[in-house]
Amino acid sequence: MSGIVRDGWFSERDTFWPGQALSIKVDEILYDKKSNFQDILVFRSNRFGTVLVLDGVVQCTELDECSYQEMISHVPLFSHPNPRKVLVIGGGDGGVIREVVKHPEVEEVIQCEIDEDVIQVSKKFLPSMAVGYSSSKLVQHIGDGLAFMKEQRGQFDVIITDSSDPVGPAQALFTDDYYKLVKSALKPDGLACSQGECYWLHLPLIKDMLQFSRGLFPVVNYCSTTVATYPCGQIGFLLCSNNSVTQFEKPLRHLSDPKSMNLKWYSPEMHMKSFVMPQFVKEALLM
Ligand code: SAM
Repeated sequence: MSGIVRDGWFSERDTFWPGQALSIKVDEILYDKKSNFQDILVFRSNRFGTVLVLDGVVQCTELDECSYQEMISHVPLFSHPNPRKVLVIGGGDGGVIREVVKHPEVEEVIQCEIDEDVIQVSKKFLPSMAVGYSSSKLVQHIGDGLAFMKEQRGQFDVIITDSSDPVGPAQALFTDDYYKLVKSALKPDGLACSQGECYWLHLPLIKDMLQFSRGLFPVVNYCSTTVATYPCGQIGFLLCSNNSVTQFEKPLRHLSDPKSMNLKWYSPEMHMKSFVMPQFVKEALLM
């Protein structure tokens, strides 16, 4: 595994984004083992702080995780009038749970993460994200998100799929079948937000996901944020609602106390602006 660290540099060269690579200078390798599901690497870097890598792909860094975790959590939560019960699929680093439990309306967060080792490694090396694991609102399941979703019916206000890319254990979480299960696991007025890949690299995949989602949900939208250490520095989120009056582009509730939520990235302005898409994306996604 540490073969992907050469001459003191980590390089993310993945077949899922051929022809481009991200490199980060490594100060110290903190963890490097194979779990039952994937290779887990944690290293410390001067530029980005501690970095979590799964199967050779950067999942989060201490410096720029805020833009991803805050947007995948707060865009759907502020689009729901009263999100009480939330399901998080994946999210092993704990950052999404940290954000979700900041909402006083949220009474219960259920997490289904496939790889317990990611949780343990994050607790040890990424305490600023794993802080979410100390919340009394959290109920944890270790298992496959698709299998877990098959058991759920009409009970969640919000479902957040914070998964790795559609290669390896997360592949099934990007399929039509998974979205059918998400739909039926939501309450009749529930809504969902999922990691939706990069428009520079994966437009056909995003197009496909929007197409099957539009056949399932009355409201579907797509927003975007920047994350310095993700491929091309950009990632999107697919948003789907069972409720035909949902307007994802405009937060429905307002921050009662932005300071106490300790936000670095999210604001109502960032929420609204994240739905403004470049012309080529609008055309490709028929937005
Ligand atoms: N922010 C990240 C990104 O987009 O690169 C995702 C972070 S989070 C660490 C991704 C998590 O999804 C991992 O902990 C991984 O173990 C989990 N995961 C992958 N496939 C899964 C599945 N089928 N069911 C549940 N969790 C899954």
